[in-house]
Amino acid sequence: MNNYVKIFLYLVYNYFGDNMIDVNDKVVIVTGGTRGIGFEIVRLFSKKNAKVILFGSRKETVDKSIETLRKEGIIVRGYYPNLNDYDEIVKIVKEINDIYGSIDILINNAGISQNKKIEDITSSEFTNIMNINVNAMFNMSKAVIPYMKSQKRGVILNTSSIVSIYGQKSGIGYPTSKFAVNGFTKSLALELAPFNIRVNAVAPGITNTDMVKSLPDNVIDPLIKQIPLGRMANPIDIANAFLFLASDMASYITGVILQVDGALIN
Ligand code: NAD
Repeated sequence: MNNYVKIFLYLVYNYFGDNMIDVNDKVVIVTGGTRGIGFEIVRLFSKKNAKVILFGSRKETVDKSIETLRKEGIIVRGYYPNLNDYDEIVKIVKEINDIYGSIDILINNAGISQNKKIEDITSSEFTNIMNINVNAMFNMSKAVIPYMKSQKRGVILNTSSIVSIYGQKSGIGYPTSKFAVNGFTKSLALELAPFNIRVNAVAPGITNTDMVKSLPDNVIDPLIKQIPLGRMANPIDIANAFLFLASDMASYITGVILQVDGALIN
């Protein structure tokens, strides 16, 4: 390929490609943004010139993530609210809106998993997983919706999982919570469509993060062998799907659970 062709393709890509997958100047809140998939979403959206606010569970991990990104030349703001405290979230969301002037995109990504047999799961463990994976999503969404309604636009994206399609052999709270994420996503999409607010979910397959690293090899290895693409997802594979759904390229997509799983069927 000669240099003129390369320059032409470069210009076409930058004009049409990047401009269409565009979150430039959008104000984006990402829960569970301190590591794994959420951290990669924060990094990717920041590189695309969004104004990103990351939420984590503790001050130390939020500070560490902000510092890691600062060394890469990326500046983000961070908070560590209790996602089950609706009043605290309302205050923080108001503060973000006061600072940035809008709330354009919410990504409900914080989540925990579970892998015990039902006999070994206490009711408080079951409640805890629903609190983080489901109730927090409700609280965050409810807090941003008034801003999105008054702006007459917005995007809410939730992190589901392929277990929300196929179920899971143990750790019943986790698939239960992710089925709830899908129900919430599809129903809220219907409720908010008249306000030009799109609601979608990404359902990742097995993704190389701390959540998966915490599982024993005898659980993970056979699963990887079943993935037709022959590997786990990397967090960037999942973050790219979020970027697409957040952008105007997905302007007519709402109520969708997008599987990003290497064609894994469990
Ligand atoms: P991770 O453990 O690396 O990150 C989880 C994030 O959630 C962290 O930022 C953590 O701070 C946050 N979090 C956990 N408990 C919290 C709490 N009580 N309050 C506030 N924040 C809390 O996991 P990950 O793999 O990056 O998972 C991110 C999302 O992706 C989760 O919703 C998970 O269910 C989903 N998911 C992961 C996989 C996978 O294979 N890794 C597959 C499907 C779906």
